Amino acid sequence: MINLSCILGYVKVGVLAVQGDVQEHLDILEKAIASLGFSAKATRIRRKQDLEEASALIIPGGESTTIARLLQQNYLFDPVLKRAEEGMPIMGTCAGCILMAKEGDEEVERTQTRLLSLMDMAVARNAFGRQRESFEADLTISGLSGDFRGVFIRAPAITRVWGDCFVLSRLEDTIVMARQEARFGLTFHPELWGDARIHEIFLESI
Ligand code: GLN
Repeated sequence: MINLSCILGYVKVGVLAVQGDVQEHLDILEKAIASLGFSAKATRIRRKQDLEEASALIIPGGESTTIARLLQQNYLFDPVLKRAEEGMPIMGTCAGCILMAKEGDEEVERTQTRLLSLMDMAVARNAFGRQRESFEADLTISGLSGDFRGVFIRAPAITRVWGDCFVLSRLEDTIVMARQEARFGLTFHPELWGDARIHEIFLESI
């Protein structure tokens, strides 16, 4: 496939822009691109053609059932799977992390949310309960020196990983970040604290 961004001399890093906190990811991506000195551009992915031109994809937080439905309505669901199969790096954060999983919980089942099933992991929606709907926590993340401030908003939990999927961070006993090759699942929002280091790790996987 001819990748236009390669001809133009820079890579496009896409943020799925059907619902959720898209702009925040675009902003922090630009910051990560600048600090790595990459020849890249952060772009919105709304159509199949946008996806074809991108070299990596972020699926943001929002509402997983809605994002899954809009992926299908916009004819993006199968193209995302195809690009993933070709090795495109994909990072799912919060709702996006739910969609990356192979297994959901009863809530995923009840809402008939179609998962992309790209990572060997199981997730549970809204796993931190009402008391802790939104909170922040300092996280230790493998490969990063120093803590990373994680922002959790009605966050899911990764309840189990298997196969080639491995844990990058836990909050107490709960898995909050995992990686499988160039696929990442984060139950928190890495785009909200102004710290671009997780987006830098993601860019380095391209
Ligand atoms: N609770 C949302 C869901 O289950 C995810 C929340 C978020 O992305 N901040 O889809």
